[in-house]
Amino acid sequence: MFLEGKRALVTGSTSGIGLAIARALAGEGAEVVLNGFGDEGEIAELCKELGASHSGADLTDVAQVEAMMEEAGEIDILVNNAGVQHVSPVEDFSVDKWNLIIALNLTAAFHTTRLAVPGMKKKGWGRIINTASAHSKVASPFKSAYNASKHGIAGFTKTIALELAEHGVTANCISPGYVWTPLIEGQIPDTMKARGMTREQVINDVLLVKQATKKFVQPEEVGALAAFLCREEAQNVNGANWSVDGGWTAE
Ligand code: NAD
Repeated sequence: MFLEGKRALVTGSTSGIGLAIARALAGEGAEVVLNGFGDEGEIAELCKELGASHSGADLTDVAQVEAMMEEAGEIDILVNNAGVQHVSPVEDFSVDKWNLIIALNLTAAFHTTRLAVPGMKKKGWGRIINTASAHSKVASPFKSAYNASKHGIAGFTKTIALELAEHGVTANCISPGYVWTPLIEGQIPDTMKARGMTREQVINDVLLVKQATKKFVQPEEVGALAAFLCREEAQNVNGANWSVDGGWTAE
């Protein structure tokens, strides 16, 4: 268990990819702090299962991010994963949704990072892993805010990778293609509306059309990669944007 003695904070880890990353890190012995919304009883069960604690901070509110980081103490592994999506033509795109997506998918990662870095520098060891997306490399229509936020976090990650490189701290993005989680299920009705398609057409002709394997990525595959990035052998994987997209962005 190579992460024994390490403390990891995974944002947006009450569901989907974040939960799989939290499970992978806890499975290697890390002490995990979960974050995200959900049913209190289910979250308590997760905490028990993983020996984790939980912060319910809303990361779009900087004061709540600061309180979470203060409470979490010194973090060795920071996984910025919380994210939301909204699908709409740009001229109809809700201003509130734009602001929410940029605040959560991009700005929250800046706040957690700026607050975690001093402790990592002091220890001379750290791992920052940002869940970006295939949409940090390529775009799809009707996802203007999401694509902007994900291209933004890719640039942010490269910047901090360079700044922290001599301090034993690495920063990388993991960029999944389509992973079957509540986030994906939730965007199907809006995509049906935006594109005038049936549910099956959205799954086969939009979601899986570019994923060369024609398979959804499993959250556990992303979790396993995150754990690898925390290994000593990954100390020179820095500033990378690692695709897990079945070949989507190879085209
Ligand atoms: P999900 O909806 O299953 O999980 C999102 C998590 O974020 C949940 O724990 C939720 O409670 C939390 N969250 C939402 N709003 C929050 C807020 N304001 N403050 C704190 N936490 C909040 O989604 P997912 O599919 O697991 O997505 C996780 C990340 O992976 C996102 O950044 C997403 O953009 C990215 N991603 C997902 C896919 C995919 O196909 N599912 C593909 C590429 C990238």
